[in-house]
Amino acid sequence: KSDSTYDYIVVGGGTSGLVVANRLSEQKDTTVLVIEAGGSVYNNPNVTNTLGYGQAFGTEIDWAYETTAQEYAGGSSQVVRAGKALGGTSTINGMAYLRAQAAQIDAWETIGNKGWNWKNLLPYFKKSEKFQDPANYPFLEGSGVAFDPASHGFTGPVKVGWSSTQLTDGLAQKLNATYQHLDVPVPYNRDANSGDMVGYSVYPKTVDADLNIREDAARAYYYPYQNRTNLHVWLNTHANKITWKDGHEATADGVEVTLSNGEKTVVKATREVILAAGALKSPVLLELSGVGNPQILSKHGIATKINLPTVGENLQDQMNNGLKFESKKTHPSDKSASYVAYPSADQLFPNSTALGAELLRKLPAYAAQVASANGNITKARDIYRFFKVQYDLIFKDEIPVAEILLSASGAAYSSEYWGSVPFSRGSIHLSSADPTAPAIIDPKYFMLDFDLHAQAQAARFIRDIFKTEPFADMAGAETTPGLSTVAAGADDKAWSTFIYSKYRSNFHPITTAGMLPKELGGVVDTSLKVYGTSNVRVVDASVMPFQVCGHLQSTVYAVAERAADIIKEQQ
Ligand code: FAD
Repeated sequence: KSDSTYDYIVVGGGTSGLVVANRLSEQKDTTVLVIEAGGSVYNNPNVTNTLGYGQAFGTEIDWAYETTAQEYAGGSSQVVRAGKALGGTSTINGMAYLRAQAAQIDAWETIGNKGWNWKNLLPYFKKSEKFQDPANYPFLEGSGVAFDPASHGFTGPVKVGWSSTQLTDGLAQKLNATYQHLDVPVPYNRDANSGDMVGYSVYPKTVDADLNIREDAARAYYYPYQNRTNLHVWLNTHANKITWKDGHEATADGVEVTLSNGEKTVVKATREVILAAGALKSPVLLELSGVGNPQILSKHGIATKINLPTVGENLQDQMNNGLKFESKKTHPSDKSASYVAYPSADQLFPNSTALGAELLRKLPAYAAQVASANGNITKARDIYRFFKVQYDLIFKDEIPVAEILLSASGAAYSSEYWGSVPFSRGSIHLSSADPTAPAIIDPKYFMLDFDLHAQAQAARFIRDIFKTEPFADMAGAETTPGLSTVAAGADDKAWSTFIYSKYRSNFHPITTAGMLPKELGGVVDTSLKVYGTSNVRVVDASVMPFQVCGHLQSTVYAVAERAADIIKEQQ
C-alpha cells in the first residue's frame, strides 16, 4: 500500500465521506481512496436492529469522546458519541430523518455564504433520498404516518421511511389530539421535512422498510458500489495528518496514516484531500497538520502551516434531558414510536414577546461572555452577528425552539427533549501532537441563561402535555424527575439541579470548521475549501454554521451531495 497514489483522498468513511467518495468515483477516470479508522459493521446486529438504539454505545464502534468538566452545568464531563465504522455515526444514530426549517438554511446565506440556502439545498436533500411510500407497506396501517411527496426524493441512495417496528396502536392520533387541546395548540404537521418543521408529526427514519434494518451511509453509498475499480477503502486505518507539497505554501499532497498492522505510511493524493472525520475530529486533524491557532500549535511543537485561529472554535451542541410518566396501558416492547413536536417560541413560552425583547437586550453581553470564555479567539462582534441571526430565526421566522420526542414502552411513557438552538459556544482543540490522543472538547453547555430557560420550559411544556386530555387520562404519575424532586411551578433555578445532573450531549456537534466568511472567523469558504489551502476541504458536520432544528444526518447528506458537485465543477 505504501506507494499508492490516488486523485482524491477522503479522510473518514462516515456519513459525509461515503457520499463524496461515491459521487467522485462516478467519474470512471478518477481514483478515490477512503481512509476509515473503523471496520465494516454490515452484519453487526447492534447496527442493523431497528429497535437497537443505544446497543452500540460503549462498544468498539463508538468513539465515545469525552468533554472537559462542564463548569456551567454542574461540573461533570459528558460523553459525546460518534460512530467508528464504515458508515460513521449513521451506523449508531437514532435514525430520525428530520431536516431543518427553510429559514435556518437561508441563514447560512444571510451570514455570508452565497448560494447556500434552502432552495439550493432542497434538490440535494432529494438527491440523497429514496423515500419509501408508506402506502406500499400495509403494516403501517394505524400508525398515523403521512408525508408530502413534493418534499421527497424517490430515487436516491438513502432509504427513508417507516418499518414494521413502527407503533400502530393509535397512540399517534391520541397524541395529536392532546397537542390540539393545549392552551396554545401545536398544530398537526403532515410532513416536517418540507422546510416548515413547526408542529406535531410522525417522522420518518433512515430504515430499509422491506428488510426492517437500519439504513446507514455504507449501505446507501458504499456496498452497492464496492465493485467500482476506482473506489478504494482502507478500513481500520487511522489518518494522522495531512502532508504538504514541498515548496508550495499550502498544497496537500497526501495523508500520513497508521495501518491496521501499526505501520505508519504516507498515501499520496494528486488532486485533493477531503476531511470528513466528523465535527470532533476534522478540526483536530487540521491542527495536527499545522492549520490553526499558532499559539495552540506551538505548545505542542507543531509548525504553523496556515494561521487560522478559529479552527475548532464555535463548537455548538444541544443538551438532552428526559421526563418519564407511568402509563395505564402496557405498550408493546417490539414497536417504537416516532412522534415529534416542534413548538415555536409562541407555542413554548407563555411570555414570548417579553422574552424576545429581553433576549435582544442581552445579546451583546452574551457575545462578550462567549468571546471571553473562549479566550477572545472568536470576536464578540462576530458572535453578536451570529446571535442576531439566531435571534431573528427564533422570534421573527418562528423556527422551532425545542424538540419533544415521545415514546411508549411497557407501562411507561418517556420523553426526550432539548432546546433546539442553544446560544452557548465552546471549542475543541488537540491536546498533544500524538494523533491518537483525545482532544480537549469543551462545549460549554448551559453557559448562557437562555439555554437553561429553554430547557426548563420544554420540561414544563411536557408536564402540560400530560395534564391535557386525552393523554392526561392515559398516563399515571410522573416518575422522572417526579414532583417531589422538581415541584409543580418550579422556576429555572429549581429545574436546573435536575437538568444539570441528568442531561447528556444531544450528539449534534457542529461549526468546528465553520463555513463562514474568513473575516467572521470562518474555516472553510463556500466551496468548503479550507482558507489558505489550494486543495483541502472539510465536508462533514463541522462546516454547518448554525444548528438545524431537525437532526443532523439529513442535512449532512445533503451538504455532502452538494459538496461533491462543487468539487466536480472545480476540477
Ligand atoms: P461521521 O458520520 O461521524 O463520520 C466520520 C467518520 O470518520 C467516522 O466513520 C470515523 O470513524 C472516521 N474517522 C474519524 N477520525 C478518523 C481518523 N483519524 N482516521 C480515519 N477515520 C476517522 N442524526 C440524525 O439525523 N438522526 C438521529 O436520530 C441521530 N441520532 C444520533 C444519535 C447518536 C448516538 C449520535 C452520536 C448522533 C446522532 N445523530 C442523529 C447525528 C448524526 O448521525 C451525525 O451528525 C452525522 O452522522 C455526522 O456525520 P459526519 O459525516 O459529520 O461524521
